[in-house]
Amino acid sequence: MRTSTESNKLKEILSKGPEPHLMTGSQYKESLRDGRRIIDAEGNEVEDVTTHPAFKNSVEHLAKLYDYQFDPETRDKTTYIDPKDGKRYSLGWEVPKTKEDLKRRRELLRLSTYHTLGVFGRPNDYGSMKSIGFLLINDKMREENPEMADNIVKFIEFSRKHNIMSTDLVPDVQSDRSVPANQRPGRLRIVEETPDGVVLYGAKPVGSVAAQAHFVTISTGLSPDLGPNEALWIAVPVNSKGLTMVLREPVTNPDSTFEDHPIDSFGEEMDNMLIFDHVFVPREYLFSIKNVKLLSIYGETGVLAHWHILSRLMYRAEIFSGVAQTIVDILGTNSFQGVREDVSEVVSYAATLKAFILAAEEEAVVKNGVFIPSEELITAGRLHSIVHYPKIMHILRDLCGQGLVSRFTAKAWEHPDVGPKFDEFLSGTGVSAREKNRFFNFVWDLTSSSHASRVALFENVNSTNAPVVKFNLYRLYDRSAPVNFVRKHLDLPSIK
Ligand SMILES: Cc1cc2nc3c(=O)[nH]c(=O)nc-3n(C[C@H](O)[C@H](O)[C@H](O)COP(=O)(O)OP(=O)(O)OC[C@H]3O[C@@H](n4cnc5c(N)ncnc54)[C@H](O)[C@@H]3O)c2cc1C
Repeated sequence: MRTSTESNKLKEILSKGPEPHLMTGSQYKESLRDGRRIIDAEGNEVEDVTTHPAFKNSVEHLAKLYDYQFDPETRDKTTYIDPKDGKRYSLGWEVPKTKEDLKRRRELLRLSTYHTLGVFGRPNDYGSMKSIGFLLINDKMREENPEMADNIVKFIEFSRKHNIMSTDLVPDVQSDRSVPANQRPGRLRIVEETPDGVVLYGAKPVGSVAAQAHFVTISTGLSPDLGPNEALWIAVPVNSKGLTMVLREPVTNPDSTFEDHPIDSFGEEMDNMLIFDHVFVPREYLFSIKNVKLLSIYGETGVLAHWHILSRLMYRAEIFSGVAQTIVDILGTNSFQGVREDVSEVVSYAATLKAFILAAEEEAVVKNGVFIPSEELITAGRLHSIVHYPKIMHILRDLCGQGLVSRFTAKAWEHPDVGPKFDEFLSGTGVSAREKNRFFNFVWDLTSSSHASRVALFENVNSTNAPVVKFNLYRLYDRSAPVNFVRKHLDLPSIK
């Protein structure tokens, strides 16, 4: 494989650290100063991602996940030693081959979810799921172009060796749907092909965390009507020349404190629109191009990513059940029957998602050497998780009563006239007024802040919304056995 500029820069950064294939948090931060072009919500160029107000808190937070790779307490959860060379690598880039591999990955995911409270839907360990997912159609890619099909294997190895963070881009930008897909102006497409690579023009929407990562992986498996120039399964370094990331408005305040905003003070993953203005992508990052036969295989390549998304929500739901119980314990409402029923609904949500994940892992299959959970069960589980999420948020808010607005900033609390009165009037069961205040600040960030709204939008559509998930479930869930049972039982003609 040709040695690219990215690989040189990452190699140089890795050479200065304690491990050849693992970055520390500060190496990760250094790796983001790579000339990437970002326009912020004020219309200004972002000079340094690690210090810019829209990013600084989240970059620190993601950097800690890199540091976990060196912390003796979390080292074995986040990394593994490859017996082939005796070197330590990020577990995030290990291709799961067995049920045990997947379970270990889920422990890594538990760590990243509890660290970010799951409000980062694309943590460090997510992006590999999409790249490894491409292996599931590697045989179909190979039929068209064996050299490019090999590139995906090489890209996964490259990512493993350089401890990179990537994220995925699937849908097209929103524009007039009455225009045929392959004529919509913003669709990302090849406008030139050379022996060395391709030149891209167009855009991709909502690249969550792309500006805090190193690569985006692109697949057009959600757009069956596109033409050959739009059929892309590729990776693109985010610092590519001609690529501009335009940030949406931030939803967290960069100067907020842990006391006032126990979740939002850690920042957010910034969604952005990626504009490709004649971006050259070297051949080494092309896995399949112009193969229109692959244009409707989104579900197949997405199973591992969808398993990650559902598992993250399962861990979030565990946290929700802890929050529900703490609300009613602190408010002393835990003896009311209606309140207990509400808590039970949150518990049921958490238990149901867990059941889907465990069942999907139990009914997994091995394809192209990759251990993949049951697509049927992951799809059914995702539908449940999406449809019930708003209800769970509503229950959490409802259980709080006035708690979500009768909470005050540290500055208000420090006022000599009101602070002592708050201390006197507002305590909860087993907690001081100030502790109760901090707890409800946390519940606000989790359920009601601008950031919570953005996360709710994310949970609803980040990897296709309920109508599309239902469509997929109808198409793939095998119900032939029960259908034939019913037909046989009633002496109706059976179906093949
Ligand atoms: C906060 C956030 C973060 C995201 N992050 C990422 C990311 O990191 N990577 C990524 O690839 N994508 C990301 N997405 C994009 C997401 O994948 C898309 O929003 C999603 O696939 C829906 O596509 P769309 O936005 O084009 O909606 P549209 O397809 O325009 O849908 C609009 C509405 O039309 C209806 N609709 C659409 N299709 C159907 C159908 N077949 N049947 C019935 N009704 C339908 C639905 O009600 C839908 O809400 C993110 C989105 C959000 C909001």
